[in-house]
Amino acid sequence: MSSVLIPTLNWFDMHLNIVYYRFCLPYVLPNELVLVVTNMTQESLKADIKALLKERKAVLLAHNYMRDEVQEIADITGDSLALSIEAAKTDAEVIVFCGVHFMAESASILAPEKTVLLPRLDAGCPMADMVSVEALKEMKSKLPGVPVVTYVNSSAAVKAESDICCTSANAVKVVQSMSEMEIIFAPDRNLGSYIARFTDKKFHLWEGYCPTHERLRPEVVKELKAANPDAPFVCHPECNPKVVELADHVCSTTGMYDYCKKSSAKRFIIGTEAGILWRLKRENPDKEFILASPALICPNMKLTSLEDVLEALQQMKPVVKVPEEIRIPAKRALDRMLAIPRD
Ligand code: SF4
Repeated sequence: MSSVLIPTLNWFDMHLNIVYYRFCLPYVLPNELVLVVTNMTQESLKADIKALLKERKAVLLAHNYMRDEVQEIADITGDSLALSIEAAKTDAEVIVFCGVHFMAESASILAPEKTVLLPRLDAGCPMADMVSVEALKEMKSKLPGVPVVTYVNSSAAVKAESDICCTSANAVKVVQSMSEMEIIFAPDRNLGSYIARFTDKKFHLWEGYCPTHERLRPEVVKELKAANPDAPFVCHPECNPKVVELADHVCSTTGMYDYCKKSSAKRFIIGTEAGILWRLKRENPDKEFILASPALICPNMKLTSLEDVLEALQQMKPVVKVPEEIRIPAKRALDRMLAIPRD
């Protein structure tokens, strides 16, 4: 039975493993034993990771959209802004960033003296890839004097071309803090059009979007709301504006934890990436969370497995390091954002 314990290597392998565990293994072992074998593998991996984290003086940061087992073992879970702040203030010598590439870059920008490991170098963000430095420079040249507000879901090089960064948690405050009456907002057109409602400023929106959040369709949400009238629909501003219009509450992932905890409702329809459910359920065991669509899974956020984390710590790679000529202007844009208090 040693083949049962082959580690998950990538997204395809992960699904192959799920198929094997769920559909093949029960013919060989009873279901209870399948669960025991899976848990034993995870527990021994977690023990090895914990020991290496200590040995390397490392901290494990995991984004709210990571796989459940990765969030379970993380020292800190959070959204992009929370993790960026933790990366900047931690005493650890090594940061293992379980997220996507731009997040590890942000950690490297804010904590250049630390070694930043991204266990899966291929974990990118399609939305971040929708804006390039060259294209942004071209837009700036057409709109001289108009400042650029860039969502943190962007490369370090794009941040370096920006005046200030923002996250979904502080975007409104960031835009309101600016004296100019026109802004270029990149790369998320959905977040940009959402925050434009809260200001009189003129927005020049970049045509980027998150393919995962964009997959949530308004028809699906309408049906779910009709079938669950007691459940408020809470969604992320990366969703399509037609979906956002249907929301009872629009907020960042951190905002969702707060809202669901404080709300007197017992059931919620959740409009963001599926990974958020792990902590929502853990913090609210008496409440029910309905994922608005099974399509709300970001393949990039699901790439990192426990095996990848262990391998990264063993080999101390892949390292993400932002070169100084990009880091310094990118840090300026991030620092301006971090100086603005969040909600
Ligand atoms: S959920 Fe969307 S924005 Fe986040 S990493 Fe995936 S594609 Fe990028």
